[in-house]
Amino acid sequence: MKTLQDIAAEVPGYHPDNLGADAVHDFLARLAQPVTGTETVGVFDALDRVLAEDVVSPLDVPPHDNSAMDGYAFDGSALLGDQALTLHPVEGTAFAGQAWATPVPPGHCLRIMTGAVLPAGVDTVVPLELTQNTADGAITVPAGAVARGANRRLRGEDLQRGGTALRAGDRLGPAALGLIASLGLPTVTVTRRLRVAYFSTGDEILSLGEAPREGAVYDSNRYTVFGLLRRLGAEVIDLGVVKDDPAAIEAAFLQAGAQADAVITSGGVSAGDADHTRALMQRLGDVVFWRVAMRPGRPMAVGRLQTGALLFGLPGNPVATMVSFLAFVRPALLRMMGVSNPTPLLVPARCQETLHKKPGRTEYQRGIVSRAADGSLQVRTTGNQGSGVLSSMHEANALIVLHHAQGTVAVGDRVDVMPFFGTV
Ligand code: AMP
Ligand code: MG
Repeated sequence: MKTLQDIAAEVPGYHPDNLGADAVHDFLARLAQPVTGTETVGVFDALDRVLAEDVVSPLDVPPHDNSAMDGYAFDGSALLGDQALTLHPVEGTAFAGQAWATPVPPGHCLRIMTGAVLPAGVDTVVPLELTQNTADGAITVPAGAVARGANRRLRGEDLQRGGTALRAGDRLGPAALGLIASLGLPTVTVTRRLRVAYFSTGDEILSLGEAPREGAVYDSNRYTVFGLLRRLGAEVIDLGVVKDDPAAIEAAFLQAGAQADAVITSGGVSAGDADHTRALMQRLGDVVFWRVAMRPGRPMAVGRLQTGALLFGLPGNPVATMVSFLAFVRPALLRMMGVSNPTPLLVPARCQETLHKKPGRTEYQRGIVSRAADGSLQVRTTGNQGSGVLSSMHEANALIVLHHAQGTVAVGDRVDVMPFFGTV
């Protein structure tokens, strides 16, 4: 197994004291490997899980050509182009779920409902509302009303038997659950759930239920990280608040490392920090300490504990914790879950205000994306961008990502935004 130094040597532009966001992504992509271990779960339990193997379709979906409309089915080769077509309905109606055995002779049509099988000899459906009834009971299809093959759903047009319906590494959303079920499959094989342990560090951090005291703050990171991890579909091992006491921190790391695939902590990783977390981390595994060229954030510890669990030591400021998680930890955890493409989607939006920035670091500002009058996307910030202002994360619906080399953004400039899309 590669040591962290081996990995660092492979990352272009690796400078732990001023590490660019690209290098962080590169490093973590090399470090975070998919967990082994799969389980077979029922479709309802597969939501947000990650496929461990391709799903090959055992049948054609839909299983037969069928009507997309309520109307009349007929042989479209009879269509005349510039002239109306008159057809005589055969007796009865073809309903979804019923086989229709009687052939439809030339010059005839069949009244058919949505989803009903198209019998042999017909390939076109004219919707009911486009037809006219003649006095003698015939049906008229006006000129140009439909083309041949209209309103016909072809056998296998959604999924073909033997074809790959879903791929290993796909994360299963609601549509995927429906697709799996449409193949008649009651279960699916997914990667096992990722176990992630978390604890907050700091003598000034209060747990809920503790009385407020001068200089102390209530722990918010425990709850934001919990929410972020749950949204990811991870199993959260919550180890609460650990005081800046070497024995307590060591015990927490040992407990976390023994149970989890990844351990996340907040606080105590900055260079000037008076606590013992840094020294301990180094004793308990292979750990590197970074100053990431980013804002908010900057200090970060990354490592591998002796148990093999990955360690993500995040800065303690509440916004910095969340932003570091979203930018770096989330994609790494998705990789560990087996997701083939964990990179968050960045979309362009027109900036509604001036954003002062110096090139040489990546800034993640809290943004509110909305639709402009012309339908395009625009974004403004939530105001105060202090790394402790957690309300700005609540108000935001996206992060504005100002890239490493980017300078000041003027009103009307295009910026990249990372929409929360249910991740925050
Ligand atoms: P640190 O990274 O330990 O230097 O902490 C930076 C700032 O974040 C300090 O003001 C801490 O009080 C604050 N902080 C650290 N951990 C937490 C937490 N779990 N919840 C809320 N604030 C925190
Ligand atoms: Mg601290």
